[in-house]
Amino acid sequence: MRIHRLNCISTRPFGGRLIDGTTRGVMTRGRCVSHCLVIETGDGLLLVDTGLGMGDVMDPERRLAPAARRLLAPDLRPEMTAVRQIEGMGFRADDVRDIVLTHLDFDQAGGLDDFPHARVHLFAKEVEYAAAQANWGAKQRYRPMQWNTRPRWIQYDALSDVPWKGMPCVRDLTGLPPDVIVLLPLQGHTPGHAGVAISAENGWHLHCGDAYMDAREMGVDPHGRFGMQFYEKFTAVDRAQYAHSQQRLRLMHYKHPDVIMNCAKDPGEFERLAGRAAHLPADPITPLARDPYVEKIVRKRAGETAEPTPTRTATGLEVVHHDPATFDLEPFAAPRGSAPPQPSS
Ligand SMILES: [Zn+2]
Repeated sequence: MRIHRLNCISTRPFGGRLIDGTTRGVMTRGRCVSHCLVIETGDGLLLVDTGLGMGDVMDPERRLAPAARRLLAPDLRPEMTAVRQIEGMGFRADDVRDIVLTHLDFDQAGGLDDFPHARVHLFAKEVEYAAAQANWGAKQRYRPMQWNTRPRWIQYDALSDVPWKGMPCVRDLTGLPPDVIVLLPLQGHTPGHAGVAISAENGWHLHCGDAYMDAREMGVDPHGRFGMQFYEKFTAVDRAQYAHSQQRLRLMHYKHPDVIMNCAKDPGEFERLAGRAAHLPADPITPLARDPYVEKIVRKRAGETAEPTPTRTATGLEVVHHDPATFDLEPFAAPRGSAPPQPSS
């Protein structure tokens, strides 16, 4: 299991450096990321959260609530959507077989419709609360127009008997190998908010969604930027439960410091873990030796293929089904003397 990290469209809430710690001034917009994970499972791709999607880029007036557009001013560049970045890496959108959602906020669920064939895994409580559209706040954050894949959603409520590193969890997700992708209840930000733990080639990773928003909150001396703490309080459905979930995460992290944690919004954390600036899309990947995708995907320069698929065109590259006898592997060849490819995290 190899993990790639994508920022699937930044948002820019007011507060400047009180939000991100780097923007000059506080009366200006800061920056937050939409930190998503793409995982090569050996049998396709699995996505943790989807950020904002092509639908949101093309039709923000209908898909996003006016308050969200005004307060967060998302940076709606199509090349930053999960689908465009995945294609730019050299995969096909259809390679995404599964999506695990931390929660259904518009900035996690916006890209769902770009992967209509994927199974979507999430907590039943989250669907129930989001679908009820119970108040003004719920109508701003949960956008049913982003949910065209709803018949493919698989909802969980029963927890497994054995906890994951001391935390209650669901170990067995439908269609996925058990104990490899683990769903953890982390309520507070929303009623059915989840953490997603992934057993990868370099150890356990834990995507905490919006359970914290400043990486320093998980440190031995927990503290965070004022703007982010305000953002956390403003968006938490249950603040006491939110604080409790953070405390459980912190304790887990003290006991298991080897778990690589990330949240959805912290730009500094994203850049440290992804190894690139947050405003850039993911690079085309260099397959590892015996990469299963070499069997399935061939990259050709745009214009060379006889079967163009315009909706699946990444910048300068076209991703097509290919006859294995005529594989064009030249784009995969590493320059002579170059270092072997490293996983992005
Ligand atoms: Zn959220």
